This record gives sequence, C-alpha cells and structure tokens, in this order.
Amino acid sequence: YCRHLATATSRGLRPTILQQRRITTLTPRTTEAVGFENATPKNDELSLEDWSQEHEDEISKLASKPLKDLNLTDLIRFGRPPLSPQSLLTSARSTRENLPVRLSRRIVALRNLPFIIVSNPHVSQIFNNYLHSLRSILSFPSSSLTNPLEELKFTEILTDIVKTHSNTIPTLARGFIECRRYATPAEVTSFLDQHLRERIGTRLMAEQHIALHISSTANPEEIKGADGATVELVQDGSTYIGTIDTALQPARLINSCASFVGEICEIRYGVRPQLVIDGDPDVRFPYLPVHLEYILTELLKNAFRASVEAEQTEPIRVTIAKDPYTAGISMRIRDRGGGISPEDMPNIWSYSFTTFREGEEEDALGRFNNSVASAGDGSSIAGLGYGLPLSRAYAEYFGGSLSVQSAFGWGTDVYLKLKGVEVD
Ligand code: ADP
Ligand code: MG
Repeated sequence: YCRHLATATSRGLRPTILQQRRITTLTPRTTEAVGFENATPKNDELSLEDWSQEHEDEISKLASKPLKDLNLTDLIRFGRPPLSPQSLLTSARSTRENLPVRLSRRIVALRNLPFIIVSNPHVSQIFNNYLHSLRSILSFPSSSLTNPLEELKFTEILTDIVKTHSNTIPTLARGFIECRRYATPAEVTSFLDQHLRERIGTRLMAEQHIALHISSTANPEEIKGADGATVELVQDGSTYIGTIDTALQPARLINSCASFVGEICEIRYGVRPQLVIDGDPDVRFPYLPVHLEYILTELLKNAFRASVEAEQTEPIRVTIAKDPYTAGISMRIRDRGGGISPEDMPNIWSYSFTTFREGEEEDALGRFNNSVASAGDGSSIAGLGYGLPLSRAYAEYFGGSLSVQSAFGWGTDVYLKLKGVEVD
C-alpha cells in the first residue's frame, strides 16, 4: 500500500518532502487493521461507456454547477494536526461534494473536443480516467461519511483517483501532438490551459484531504523508525497543514531543486552551471511545497540549459525577497544564457513550444519520445514545451505571477511572485 501511495503522489519528479511524508506515515499495519483491501467499490458490472451514457444527465448537471475556487485560507481551515475526527469528516464531506463537479466539468470539456481528437487513444484514455474516477467517487454515498472507517475508505478512493491521473500530462501531450493536424496551436493551448489549471485544483483538493488524513493518523514513533528521510519529517512536521508548509523556506527548496536539475544537466551535457542565492535566503512563507517545487524545477531547467548551451561560466543568480506588505515573496532567476530571440518570444507560453532539439531531423513526436522515453519521469532537461505555461498556471493559481524578460544576446530574467497566506 505504501508503494501504491508513492505512485499516487508521484508528479514525475523525485519524491518530494511531502511525498516522503505520505509514504512514511500511512503504515501497512494501519491499513490492514481496517481491511483496506476491501475498500474499493465493486462497480464493474457496467462498462464505463454504458455507465457514462446512463449518467449523462447527471454529469451535465454536475458540470454546470459553479466551480468553487480553492484558496489557501480554505485549505488550512481545518487547522493544524492533530485533527479532530470531526474536522476530518467535514473535510471528507466537502471533498465528496466538490470533487464530482470538477471531474464532470473535465468530462464535458473533453467530450466537446472535435470527435477526431477525442478518438485519439491517448486523449480517450484521459477521458476514460475521468469517467472512472467520477464513477468511483459517486458510488461512495456521501451519507455514509459519518465515521472514521468510512472516512478511511473514502481516502483510499481519493488515493486511487490521484494515482489514476498521475500520468495525465505526458499522455495528453502525446495525444495532442498526434492530433496537431486537426487543431491549431492556439486551440490546443486554450484547451490545455483550462484543463491543466482546473486539474491543479482538483488534484489539490484530493491531496489535501489525503494529507490531512495522514497527519491525523501519524504516530511520531513509527515515523522516526521508517527511514532516513523521516528525521526531517519529524523536525518539519509541525509546520505543515495538510499539503501546505506554513513556514516554507524557498532557499532550501531552490537548493534541492538545483541539485536535482544539476544532475540531469550533467547527464545531458556533462557539466552543470553554478548557482548563487542572494537577497534574503532566510525568508519563510506559507505555501505549497509541491507547487513551488514544480515551478522551480522547470525554471531552473531552462536557466541551466541556456547557460550550458551558451557555454556561460557566470553563475545563475536567484534573488529572494519578502514582500513587505503581504505574506508573499518575489524571486528573480537570472541567467546569462543568451536570452530568447524576438521570433521565439511570442511562443514561449504555448504548450509544446520548444527550441530543444535532441537529434538532427526531429519532429514533435520524435522529440516527445526522446524527452519522455529518456526519462519517463519528467527528468529530461527540456523538450515537452510545457515548463513555462504550466509553471505560470501554478503561480497564478493562488494569485501569484510569472513573467519572463529577455535581453537577447545576453540572458534571461524570470520573475516569480507568490502570495502567501496569513496562518493563525
Ligand atoms: P522546454 O524547456 O521543454 O523547451 P519551456 O516551456 O520550459 O519548454 O520553454 C519554452 C522555450 O522557451 C524553450 O525551449 C526556450 O527556447 C525558451 N526559454 C525558456 N527559458 C529560457 C531561458 N532561461 N533562456 C533561454 N531560453 C529560454
Ligand atoms: Mg523548460
């Protein structure tokens, strides 16, 4: 089951602090004790297609409900661990109520794509994943969420949903590359942008409940015994509320992302650039480590790649500043990698725009195969062309921003601004 959780939370990056938290806190013993293996609903009698036809009206109705914006304040409203069983149930009920709306919206949006696109095997796989997830959550009656055992079963369903959708991005990317004759890049970008932005919230909603569940059941003694990573967990544990670290230190995350990106950079180019952090490295603010980690990894990959390809010896400079008026931060990532040409500049926010070339004669599909096959886990230095647009979607999700300034012939400045939230 622990391995199951590990895949469930995998984002195509190495395990994060947060994932280690999850893996180490839900022990097999806990799950055995309550018969977890029986928790998955038996609803396979109907084929997914028949099920979706039968529920077509319900799906359209759910999809037309207004989408509740997630905000950081809402996410932490259940408070710091240990959570009372009552607030855990409230969190489960609110997730049970809101998740079907989100899943249905995606189903309807996918269904509205031109038929030739939905028929693509990769796109239809994603479509089926959504149907499957919606069916499993709807088959769990909200009225039964009255006791810890049902809450545990519900958490198992959520874990399953997160796992089902973990590979969405490369799968969709592939589907849309294969369909590029049937839709303009602008159409693809507008669909993907909305899809991936809403997905951030859906995923977060499920993960927040899973994380609250885990922190409510965590036993510090067991955590300590598990493995090396857990020592950090014990020190860090108190600053977390679910998936949010109330005292996230960007400088630490920059260092860990830089060492990861440095490794893949060495694999690709045989060298890695220097990185310097200045400004105020002691700044802490409340934020989601997994979101910031995604953004930093993508921005550092771009800066590292540009630096190395330009054979630049000047270090990449990351400046961190605390916003004097809000609980937020600003960050500037500056490289001397030659900047972005004026022709490329208008395209950098399009999904699948990239200047990365693996071989000589290579089209988008070949590039895709290389960047995914060589890594499979998102650990190639570039190639999908999703780094900038998706990072901006993450940054904007909670009211932040991401912008790129290029001095062509010299280098690039990327500005990342994030709002924190006042906790307590
Ligand atoms: P990918 O890295 O997969 O190509 P991104 O969305 O991360 O996709 O970036 C898109 C393109 O923007 C890159 O291929 C590159 O041409 C350009 N770019 C982004 N960041 C930088 C940078 N720091 N220096 C130079 N070019 C950059
Ligand atoms: Mg990139």
